[in-house]
Amino acid sequence: MMMNVPFRVTSMLEHAEWYFAKKEVTSRTMSGIRKFSYREIGERTRRLSSALKRLGVQKGERVGTLAWNHHRHLEAYFAIPGVEAVLHTINIRLSPQHIAYIINHADDQILFVDQDILPLVEALKDHIPNVKAFILMTDEDELPQSPLQPLYHYEKLLETGDPAYEFPQNVDENDPVGMCYTSATTGNPKGVTYTHRSTVLHSMSLGLADGGSVSESDVLMPVVPMFHVNAWGLPYAATWFGSKQVMPGPRFTPQLLAELIEMEKVTFAAGVPTIWMGLLQELEQNSYDTSSIRAVICGGSAAPKGMIKTFEEKHNIPFMHAYGMTETSPLVIATRLKTYQSDLDDEAKLDYKAKQGYVVQGVEMKVIGANGEVKWDGHEMGELLLRSNWIADEYYNDDRTEGTFNDGWLHTGDVVTVDEEGFVKIVDRTKDLIKSGGEWISSVDLENAIMAFPDVFEASVIAVPHPEWQERPLACVVLKPEAKGKVPKEDIVEFLRPQFAKWWIPDDIVFMDEIPKTSVGKFLKRTLRDQLKDHYMTTAKS
Ligand code: ADP
Repeated sequence: MMMNVPFRVTSMLEHAEWYFAKKEVTSRTMSGIRKFSYREIGERTRRLSSALKRLGVQKGERVGTLAWNHHRHLEAYFAIPGVEAVLHTINIRLSPQHIAYIINHADDQILFVDQDILPLVEALKDHIPNVKAFILMTDEDELPQSPLQPLYHYEKLLETGDPAYEFPQNVDENDPVGMCYTSATTGNPKGVTYTHRSTVLHSMSLGLADGGSVSESDVLMPVVPMFHVNAWGLPYAATWFGSKQVMPGPRFTPQLLAELIEMEKVTFAAGVPTIWMGLLQELEQNSYDTSSIRAVICGGSAAPKGMIKTFEEKHNIPFMHAYGMTETSPLVIATRLKTYQSDLDDEAKLDYKAKQGYVVQGVEMKVIGANGEVKWDGHEMGELLLRSNWIADEYYNDDRTEGTFNDGWLHTGDVVTVDEEGFVKIVDRTKDLIKSGGEWISSVDLENAIMAFPDVFEASVIAVPHPEWQERPLACVVLKPEAKGKVPKEDIVEFLRPQFAKWWIPDDIVFMDEIPKTSVGKFLKRTLRDQLKDHYMTTAKS
């Protein structure tokens, strides 16, 4: 038999303090860029833990953060588990009602707030009566006037803390350490609770050579917010493995990201497609040295093939497409070409890179279609089911657990195909799939094709009730400003015809000024479906 040493989140920071004390975290805050060694981060974190203890934070209590990516947020990532409390990172881009809902649902006792986010929290004051104290993460010497009371100054609180505070060593690895809520597309957000065990195992997987391969030699820049699935777990992994971290701070621009890449010699950066689109534009307009980058990792929604191609071919930046969810910590699937695939031509390689990839070691998947498990032929569609030690098995105090977590599997709600190499391609979300005359049509494939039309700025394809076919695809299209009013619908339809089976082609196109989006920039198809639900019914009658 073997030892059973409990996994512990704070052990990752201890490792950095012992072995990587001199390595740095570059942090951009409201007042500029500062650098801290892991020795300093460790000491400040211990001070913070001891101060939280003195404020009365108890084991298992939730402590919320409303903050950007910077060193103070990183300290909170470890200091809150350091008193056996639960770090609840709150997505500041949710609606104020949803933010209040999740603060109350998680029963947050204390909130850490960034200076520029303070007004948002002040506006919620009367709706979050259970919060006992607020801690302002600020560079200013003095606290501003605020109706939020008691309000503590982060740095002054640290001064009262003990730099030699010892993190509890005998924790239960199944105790909760973190919480995130999924950005809701329907109903209230749903909470997911991470444990010591799930967090450490997920971090370890980020270090796998054939996974994220996060290592000491990396300069890692998480652009994905620390309030969005814990910046995909990268702050934990980077600390543990002793990577230098570059935290881009509040309200950054593509120009700032490009400057940080050049200045700090970033090797690995993570973000959603819109971030990389913005960076590409900046790289097209101005010249930067990006030669340090060994990979950018992109997930959250599908990365367009054209973007991957430009990154790799024009800028020589390797691109890694990855898939995950709040429920999955999040990294579970990523593209890594196999050695024998290097013989493929560039276009075929690109096709694989544009897929989401295959599961990382430690994750198992099943894909269930209308007739059970689908064939790995790249065509048959089914729902993606996953299980792993870093996947949730329930939502926090929520009756929506049933239906998503069944028989030991997470039912992702994503419809996929799998090819003979095991590469998964996300075809759609179950609720967005268009079911026309008993067949399935992928809204994502149609959108990507329409967005390749030169005059189109963005496009969203939705299912709309149809008197004969149950549902038909309807394309909602935003044209580029210079093309508005000048492109006939037929041109777009003709453009699609050679690319799809006849019955996939949308019967109609609706031009609009803007497509409604969720807080994390995904198309809000529910709103479109509500607005346009009578479209074919009325056109059929008239
Ligand atoms: P939410 O579910 O609230 O949008 P998440 O950030 O947890 O928030 O999003 C998870 C979903 O995002 C997945 O179920 C999937 O539909 C989509 N997604 C994530 N990564 C990718 C990707 N690389 N390609 C396509 N879709 C993705």
